[in-house]
Amino acid sequence: MISVAIDGPAGAGKSTVARKVAAKKGYIYVDTGALYRTVAYSAYINGVSFDDNEKIVAHLDGINVDIAYRGDEQRVLLNGEDVSDSIRTPIMSEGASKVSAIPEVRAFLLGLQRKLAAEHNVVMDGRDIATVVLPDATVKIFLTASAELRARRRYDELIAKGQTVEYEDIYNDLLKRDHRDSTREVAPLKPAEDSVLVDTSELNFEEAVNAVCIVIDKTVG
Ligand code: C5P
Repeated sequence: MISVAIDGPAGAGKSTVARKVAAKKGYIYVDTGALYRTVAYSAYINGVSFDDNEKIVAHLDGINVDIAYRGDEQRVLLNGEDVSDSIRTPIMSEGASKVSAIPEVRAFLLGLQRKLAAEHNVVMDGRDIATVVLPDATVKIFLTASAELRARRRYDELIAKGQTVEYEDIYNDLLKRDHRDSTREVAPLKPAEDSVLVDTSELNFEEAVNAVCIVIDKTVG
């Protein structure tokens, strides 16, 4: 099986680029951030605070998180229910960033991610795919861009979805999330030693997709 790990900070364009690369290559796309968002969403609807680690861990016992595909499109299921749209809010971004720092939450989601990569050719995006989830990934890419550009992209995305947000809030949340993701003790956001760095600050979408495909083609052919 071929696995392409794409890690990087929030808003670097990982999900849109990874989705397109997967479609071009005929691999399945796995957005692992959606899994952490689903755990956060589950805590939220059950009235569990994102800061109450003990309760977050306890509540994992009663839940099931899974991925299903509708055509090429990944959907995340919480106890069998499709929650893919509900997890795309700034509150769940913040919640996912907090719950993902809990080792038991990471362990809870690890098996599912590895199973998908064992059964399919995948392009998997996240923070720790090359370092922890798939340390033997065929291709490892660290996709990044400047914080201002990443915030601008996130802002445009949310506005396009009809959400009411302020650029400054998005920018500050992003810096906070970057900091939390890269300084946590378990599986912090960082490039693997053998990752190829792709900076998308100066690239448009097609150029970023091409840059990633070039890296893949060099290894996979
Ligand atoms: O990629 P996305 O913004 O959806 O991820 C939400 C949060 O989930 C991230 O800020 C990060 O804290 C966490 N995450 C993680 N490991 C992954 C993917 C996401 O810790 N592999």
